[in-house]
Amino acid sequence: MKTILVTGGAGFLGSHLCKHLLNKKHRVVCVDNLFTGSKQNINRLLGKPDFQFIEHDIIDPLYFEETIDQIYNLACPASPVHYQANAIRTIKANTIGVMNMLGIAKKHNSRILQASTSEVYGDPLQHPQQETYWGNVNPIGRRSCYDEGKRVAETLFFDYHRQNKVDIRMARIFNTYGPRMAQDDGRVVSNFILQALAGKDLTIYGNGQQTRSFCYVDDLIEGLYRLMNAENLIGPVNLGNPGEFTMLELAEKVIALTGSKSKVIFEPLPSDDPKQRQPDVSLAKEKLGWGPIVSLNEGLKETIKYFQKI
Ligand code: NAD
Ligand code: UDP
Repeated sequence: MKTILVTGGAGFLGSHLCKHLLNKKHRVVCVDNLFTGSKQNINRLLGKPDFQFIEHDIIDPLYFEETIDQIYNLACPASPVHYQANAIRTIKANTIGVMNMLGIAKKHNSRILQASTSEVYGDPLQHPQQETYWGNVNPIGRRSCYDEGKRVAETLFFDYHRQNKVDIRMARIFNTYGPRMAQDDGRVVSNFILQALAGKDLTIYGNGQQTRSFCYVDDLIEGLYRLMNAENLIGPVNLGNPGEFTMLELAEKVIALTGSKSKVIFEPLPSDDPKQRQPDVSLAKEKLGWGPIVSLNEGLKETIKYFQKI
């Protein structure tokens, strides 16, 4: 049994990860400031003896007496609406917060995994994106607090690794969706499903020809777990589903699967919105034996069921 710290553990991905780790019989310490996460996401875990919740912002230092064996660092708002709402806090989480977590890893000799992102590739000129691509990122735009924040977080991880021998793992996560996304999250999958279920028009930003590749949460969590426990790979490694869809195609799928009478409407495209995104996951396949198994249709059905229930 390992003691595992999950920052951002009350969020969408974090809550699934905490559950997965408890199922694997580990002790889980979940740290979250509840900015975009909620206790509701972890309410089934709160009473468990091997689960501890600490309401805390990783921007502030944190100390543990017990030994921490592993750290998954997920604490950072992931939706453009939320990470742009307080851009400076987003940068702080990805710099000061990341250094605080790397400091814990250094002190406890823990292995630490960073939830990095496909956003480090920016508006990519290489397609599909491989881990060797350095990206095309605007350093001064509205998305920069997140994109550049996550890039400097990667730099910090690799410098702590080189300089202080910290045992790191770096996952580059591509758009992931599923149950327990917040209703006010603002990302495309939850927006479209909620709009379709309410019979409202689905809001397509721009002309809807931009693409994303959507990974179901269960697949992603399995990939994170395998990377954390791999001995032959520190990353960076892409984790995502290579199936690539335009936002118009996604809207049509959601309308069909919900049986909604909703139409689509077009709204202005936010600045620096990437035009295309598709992971090359051959590294994860080769080194971790990992690949996504849930199709977009199956995953959307599960997610729709969840939003219908709540
Ligand atoms: P989310 O917003 O649901 O979860 C983030 C969690 O971190 C929330 O619970 C929030 O309250 C918490 N948090 C934010 N700032 C914090 C701080 N300073 N201190 C403590 N807690 C803080 O988003 P998610 O989709 O679950 O994303 C989790 C992580 O995975 C993020 O780091 C995100 O950048 C990364 N990621 C997610 C995706 C995706 O598609 N879901 C893609 C790429 C990367
Ligand atoms: N998007 C959209 N309608 C929405 C929300 C998002 O058309 O209601 C678009 C957005 O402009 C982007 C894509 O969907 O092109 C994915 O957006 P999301 O915020 O989910 O993630 P990210 O842009 O960070 O990949």
